[in-house]
Amino acid sequence: MSRFVHPAGDRHAEMLPQERPPQAPADLNRIHPEIWPRTSGRTDGALTIGGVDVRDLAEQYGTPLYVLDEDDVRSRMRDYASAFAGSEVHYAGKAFLCKEMVRWLDAEGLSLDVASGGELAVALAVGFPPERITMHGNNKSEAELTRALEIGVGHIVVDSYEEIARLGYLADKYGKRPDVMIRVTTGVEAHTHEFIATAHDDQKFGLSLNTGAAAEAVRRILALPQLNLVGLHSHIGSQIVDTAGFEVAARRLTTLLVAIKEEHGVVLPELDLGGGYGIAYTPDEVAPDVKEIADSLREIVAKVCTGAGLPVPKLTVEPGRGIVGPGGISLYTVGTVKDVEGLRTYVSVDGGMSDNVRTALYGAEYTTLLASRESHAQPMLSRVVGKHCESGDIIVRDHYLPGDLAPGDLLAVAATGAYCRSLASNYNYLPKPAVVAVRNGQSRVIVQGETEDDLLRGQL
Ligand SMILES: *Cc1c(COP(=O)(O)O)cnc(C)c1O
Repeated sequence: MSRFVHPAGDRHAEMLPQERPPQAPADLNRIHPEIWPRTSGRTDGALTIGGVDVRDLAEQYGTPLYVLDEDDVRSRMRDYASAFAGSEVHYAGKAFLCKEMVRWLDAEGLSLDVASGGELAVALAVGFPPERITMHGNNKSEAELTRALEIGVGHIVVDSYEEIARLGYLADKYGKRPDVMIRVTTGVEAHTHEFIATAHDDQKFGLSLNTGAAAEAVRRILALPQLNLVGLHSHIGSQIVDTAGFEVAARRLTTLLVAIKEEHGVVLPELDLGGGYGIAYTPDEVAPDVKEIADSLREIVAKVCTGAGLPVPKLTVEPGRGIVGPGGISLYTVGTVKDVEGLRTYVSVDGGMSDNVRTALYGAEYTTLLASRESHAQPMLSRVVGKHCESGDIIVRDHYLPGDLAPGDLLAVAATGAYCRSLASNYNYLPKPAVVAVRNGQSRVIVQGETEDDLLRGQL
């Protein structure tokens, strides 16, 4: 029988509701502007990004390949910087970090969050100003803290009592007095449309507001003259599309600010509300407007602080995905097209969970497109899978692709700029793909792809 072809009819009746496949889109060739990089287009049937034809990218650099639309990423940096003018925008480096990305951040005037000595090393390798770096992490090593102190990072966000003692000791030893914030667990957890405003204290990050651990951390830091407590930090989640969760978190943080003022007579000047601003991965998702989010957050902070009789603190936000997610795509070559009778077609590509683990890790959803040509064949319900030895090695769970898809075709997966290269592994000894930046009809490698020599390096 031919491959499974839309309409699906009742063949999926046995599927769980959350597994029901999406409707076939009216036009499989459509490049949805909310999902694909800002400079995307089609030339002679093929997807182009930054004015570069993906067929040329595949030929020149091979696949799998990460492609980053420089204008898209840099314009989003500017969008955040201007929407949050007067506040601090720290890009969360864990979403995707490399030297070139750091240069872009520097040029666009953003600050940077790092969560390890390695991320810090990338920033320092291209001379990023240390005072614009915030050091995060729930278990920073002595070596990491020492480096942060030596180079003089702008802020260190402390996450435990042990760290307060460790940092106090090290600051003393090196004659430094770092600006620190406390990572507070507010009991708010947000994810996309919903947030939970009850106890989410059962997690490794932060010091709990509910249990009094955060207030105790304040006492311990204020007792150490070598630490300069400047504010509170909270990060409530990821892929958040409205400000309701931030509002609850800000209110709760403000109660602590008030308590600190009452107990210690100290008014903390800074408030960091973290990141988590959502992007559109599929046509039914709508990314929040950055300007609206910014205006709303500022209003919330001003309102709750003024209401509590506190001066309005300096606000910091930490977008990661919102800056680098939409401008990145992954490019793959189709290797096999296997029809599983009556269910769906498995399209195997030359990468997989080693270059994009998000689907396997937490059921992420993506949009994919036949990128090397247009097709008007019947829609075919497909699952895009990798070449790894795991049946969970899925990149796009359910998506319609043209029924004439064949080995050698190029597939593009949208919105893979964040948390794909940074979470990449060498599972099955696959080399990590290169990252290529495109702009104005030009392409250049910004992170080299790994070779077999790289895979064998360090082995005895
Ligand atoms: C991950 C993280 C961010 C960024 O989250 P996004 O969802 O990528 O915006 C910001 N701040 C902290 C502390 C984080 O851990």
